[in-house]
Formats: sequence, C-alpha cells, structure tokens
Amino acid sequence: RQAQFRALKDVEPLTKDGKRITLQMNAGLLVDLPHLNEAGAEGIGLFRTELQFMIASTMPKAEEQEAFYRNVLKQTGSKPVTFRTLDIGGDKVVPYFRAAEEENPALGWRAIRLSLDRPGLLRTQFRAMLRAAAGAEFKLMLPMVTEVAELKVARELLQKEIERQSKLGEQLPRKLQFGAMLEVPALLWQLDELMAEVDFVSVGSNDLFQFAMAVDRGNARVSDRFDSLGRPFLRMLRDIVRAGERNDTPVTLCGEMASKPLSAMALLGIGFRSVSMASTAVGPVKAMLLALDADKLAEVLNAALDDAKSETSIRQLLVDFAAAN
Ligand code: PEP
Ligand code: MG
Repeated sequence: RQAQFRALKDVEPLTKDGKRITLQMNAGLLVDLPHLNEAGAEGIGLFRTELQFMIASTMPKAEEQEAFYRNVLKQTGSKPVTFRTLDIGGDKVVPYFRAAEEENPALGWRAIRLSLDRPGLLRTQFRAMLRAAAGAEFKLMLPMVTEVAELKVARELLQKEIERQSKLGEQLPRKLQFGAMLEVPALLWQLDELMAEVDFVSVGSNDLFQFAMAVDRGNARVSDRFDSLGRPFLRMLRDIVRAGERNDTPVTLCGEMASKPLSAMALLGIGFRSVSMASTAVGPVKAMLLALDADKLAEVLNAALDDAKSETSIRQLLVDFAAAN
C-alpha cells in the first residue's frame, strides 16, 4: 500500500465531485523536509518552531534561529511554509527555560502568553523570520490565542520589527501573511473579530479538543473517553468553517484529526478545503478524497449534526458512508 500511496504523490487532490483540496504537512525539524516532495504535500501548514528550542541545551541565539529558518525556506523552495511562533509550556518542556511549577501547565504560562510577557523573545523570533524570508513569501501564526486583543499586541511587535528592518535598509518579505491558531474555545465567540484581524486561521484540533471536552490530551484514561467525531466537536468545527466562509478568511486545520483518513473525511464533509497533517498521512488521505463525493457526504453529515436525536458519535455513520460510496 505504501507504493500505492507514493504513486499518488503527483495526482491532483480533487474529490470525485471536483472539489480542490489543499494537503499540506506538519514539520518541525530539518529531517522532516525531504518528506515534503516524497509525500506530495503542497507546503508546510504547520512548522513547529519550538522543536529547535526543545532539542537545544541552551536558548538558540537570534543568528541560529535565522539560519534555521533560512535553511527551512531554502529546502522547501517554492512551496509555502507557515511558521508558528514558539509554543513552549504545557507538554512542551524546554529545559533551560524553566518557569515556576504549575499545577495545570496546559492552562498555564505557555505559547503566546509567554511570548507576550517576554516580548524580547518574540521580537527576536519575528526578526529572525523576517530576515530569513527576505524577498520571499512568508506566513506566520501564533499559538494558543484566547482573545483577539493578544493578536493585536503581537502584530504591533511584528510591525516594530518590520519598521526596524526597513530603517536598516534590509529587504523585507515579498508578501507576509499573519495568522492565528484556533485552539482555545473562547475564540469561538470572537470568530468575526478574529477573522477581521488575521489573514488566515489554522485550527489546532489537538488542543481545541482537549480544552473543549476538558480532557487532558496526554492522559489516555480520559482523552479517549469522548470522540472527536462526536456531534459537539464537529459542530464546533463546522461553526469555524462557516465563519471563514462568511468572512472570506481561509481556514485550515493542522491537528492529528487531519492525519486519519476517516476524520479527514469528516473534515471535508463539514467544509474544510485545506488540511495539514503528518507527512505519512498525505498519501492515505489523498487516496480517501479521490474517491469521495464531498457534496453527498456534506448532506448526510449536516443532517446528522442537525438531528438532535442522532447518536452522539457519528463515527459509525462515516464508516457506513465510506463503505457504501
Ligand atoms: C494542535 O493543538 O492541534 C496543534 C496542531 O498544535 P500542537 O499539537 O503542537 O499543540
Ligand atoms: Mg496546540
């Protein structure tokens, strides 16, 4: 089957009813990059910049960050890369950056919270990215956003770095897109404001599921208790897709859900047209979508999501649909 999937790498990802789907991959280290072409992914939808920090024994210096991003962009060539700013804290431990013990690290001082409290760190990262992407197209996004106001502060810091680079006469990126990860449920009640503020949104379904269902993603005892193919979570995701359509803001998803063909099928059924996944999943997900009638699935799926009497989990419905079509 591996060979079968590899044979699909240059096949255009079109559903049976002609919907063009963008399939990107997640990465975080240089060793991930050769998979981009091997898997036939269109770009890197999530580049986890904290990996460079997690494998280092001391804080990577500005020049090291810049060299690293430059290397990533060089190796990915014309394919787009979405860099996510540091997402440390929670389950991502950086040994030389030890904050006080926290009782609930997932809900603690992490990601954009830490970045906004240590603006020097965030500005250094922005600067390294701007310099590495001089003359190129470049996308960045911030993790764990809870309020739109946080994004405005982050954008001001980015703007300062852009102005600094211009004053120094340095070349800027040719095009820059600013995005947010949607991983905290509070953003669901700020969707229109959020989308007015950013160029794109990327759903972090791992964390969004953890926070929405109140289950620790690292604790199998509870994390498997509820189904991400259940009505509550799929309805939540559908609301995000609809907000994207309403606001004309691109919405993608980069959590583990996109890596499982059945879940990826559900995502296409609720309207996602772009997903980012583990490189090994690109082939299997493409095989799934080439055989999928997305409109037909949307009809069945929406009916189940809107039917208060249907089962909480619609996993079986998806399995049956896949088998019958
Ligand atoms: C997510 O939360 O879904 C996500 C993509 O980010 P990470 O898994 O790195 O937290
Ligand atoms: Mg996350």
